[in-house]
Parts: sequence; structure tokens; C-alpha cells
Amino acid sequence: MFKSAATVEKLANRLARLPGIGRKTANRLAFHILKMSDEDVFELADIMREAKEKVGFCSICFNISETDPCQVCNDPSRPKNIICVVEETADAAAIDRVDSF
Ligand SMILES: [Zn+2]
Repeated sequence: MFKSAATVEKLANRLARLPGIGRKTANRLAFHILKMSDEDVFELADIMREAKEKVGFCSICFNISETDPCQVCNDPSRPKNIICVVEETADAAAIDRVDSF
């Protein structure tokens, strides 16, 4: 299938809107995606769609989760009277791994 330059430009423009992705990186990623196999591109698109459909936010702690409440809030062994406030979701996962704050 022929990919028009307009379509490549549209893809690069969309990728450039992602955080931390500048114009050069967006162009590089767009051309990389074009060189990927159809199977890999469709798998990536499916995973992105699946993550968007399945992942939400816990109504108690507002961490990302596929369940509400999340596994952390549902865990009866965790203390309910101590909280750890973090700026980014990735920070919560890192702190949970070291089990200390
Ligand atoms: Zn939670």
C-alpha cells in the first residue's frame, strides 16, 4: 500500500505532540513505523487501544489501575492510615518496589 507524504506528515505531527518527543524524533519514529512490519504496527496500535480502554484511575488513591479500587487499595495487609503522595504514577511504582518512604 502506498503511503502518501501527507499521511507521514500527519503521523509525525501527532507523534510530536507526545511529551519529550521533538520534531526530529517524531520524524524518525514516523519513518521507523513505516519500516515496521504490518503485524508489529497493528500490534502496537492494538496495545495502545487496549491500554486506553482497560486502564483507568482508582477512585481512592487515583493511581492507574485496571480495577477500581486498585490492587493496592484492595490489599487488606496494607495500612489504611498512611499515605504517600507522589507527583507521577511512575513514582508510586518505584516507591512501592523499594517498600520504604
Ligand atoms: Zn487505589
